[in-house]
Amino acid sequence: MPREVLLVEDDADITGLLTLHLRDLGCTVTTVEDGATGLVAALEQGPWSLVVLDLGLPQVDGLEICRRLRAQGAYTPILMLTARAAEEHRVLGLETGADDYLTKPFSVVEFGARVKAILRRAERLSPSAPPNHRSLRIGELQVDLDQRAVRRGGLPLDLTAKEFDLLAHLIRHPAKAFSRAQLLDQVWGTTHDTFEHTVNSHINRLRAKIERDPAKPRYIVTVWGVGYRFAGALELK
Ligand code: CA
Repeated sequence: MPREVLLVEDDADITGLLTLHLRDLGCTVTTVEDGATGLVAALEQGPWSLVVLDLGLPQVDGLEICRRLRAQGAYTPILMLTARAAEEHRVLGLETGADDYLTKPFSVVEFGARVKAILRRAERLSPSAPPNHRSLRIGELQVDLDQRAVRRGGLPLDLTAKEFDLLAHLIRHPAKAFSRAQLLDQVWGTTHDTFEHTVNSHINRLRAKIERDPAKPRYIVTVWGVGYRFAGALELK
């Protein structure tokens, strides 16, 4: 599978180092050094296997690029690089939809490990992945996308067809926050406003089955003012 990586970073030394390392991992690398060009490249020159995005960029910052990419329909894996260690910025990066982040300075070994984990997950989730290979372990959940089977702690869970569709849709777009209207449209194929409670009730039933403590969900989390997103995928081994 060709791995096309977009690297948006204004520090030439870091760009040079990461480019070498990405090539060692078998990636083709496109580099961009400012946010405005990065935004156009991210949105219009894909699809990208991975976008490595510096937070502090000239013209348009990394968070804005991340938001705009996540507003698109297709899922693009994003690894954020940040020089700002403050916790709120880390949280903001993940809430905006980055799959993972690294705080500078970081080692190339750590960078390589994060890149490999993100790429491996994205390739497993791809519809073109080999049959019987699209099985994921997320924390104590085992999800088989081909057999439509879910286990928790080794025990099979009894999900309805729609509950599975909803879970699979969230897993296929990890870190992306969906509104109830978007889930209705994309999972149920309807857009009628009055059915939004249908989404809530399915989320509640799904949480009751997959979460150890449905009151404190680890996998399907509520995004305040937006809706829901899948939060557990980074634990994939
Ligand atoms: Ca920078």
